[in-house]
Amino acid sequence: MAYHYQFRCNACGHEEYIHLGLIPNSAPEDIFEYVDYKFREERQFKKDVLGGKYGDYIAKVCAVDSEKLFFSASECLVWCTVCKALGIGHDKYISSKDYEGSEFFFDAPKKPYSMQIRIRQKCKSCGGILSMIHGECAVAAKCPKCGEIAFRQLRRLIS
Ligand SMILES: [Zn+2]
Ligand SMILES: [Zn+2]
Repeated sequence: MAYHYQFRCNACGHEEYIHLGLIPNSAPEDIFEYVDYKFREERQFKKDVLGGKYGDYIAKVCAVDSEKLFFSASECLVWCTVCKALGIGHDKYISSKDYEGSEFFFDAPKKPYSMQIRIRQKCKSCGGILSMIHGECAVAAKCPKCGEIAFRQLRRLIS
């Protein structure tokens, strides 16, 4: 499943598409590469958590039963609450695996998680807190061309 966001700047007219996920009808090697990329991101996230990157407390809690936890690092749109820049980031969270259903990434959990920790992320350019956008993007972002806070979502397509 892929998400395509179309943005347009109300100030200068600049338009851009942002794509998230796997484009349908991808070549088999692209699918393998994407799945591999997803696993690499999740493995790295798990390593970072257990290695203490997000603090000793979370590292200790997760180390107890790390095999029973799911380390998710899926792509999402991110918007900086300070400089208003828009970009592609990762929604990093740790949750318990005790839900009904498959762990395969296309399946949504069918039962609520008994535990979930979401990592707060910061903007690389200004250090502001990033807000993760999963559905429609209702906020105005900074235009990558003219810098005005007038970059707005025009359309969102799911394919
Ligand atoms: Zn920022
Ligand atoms: Zn602009």
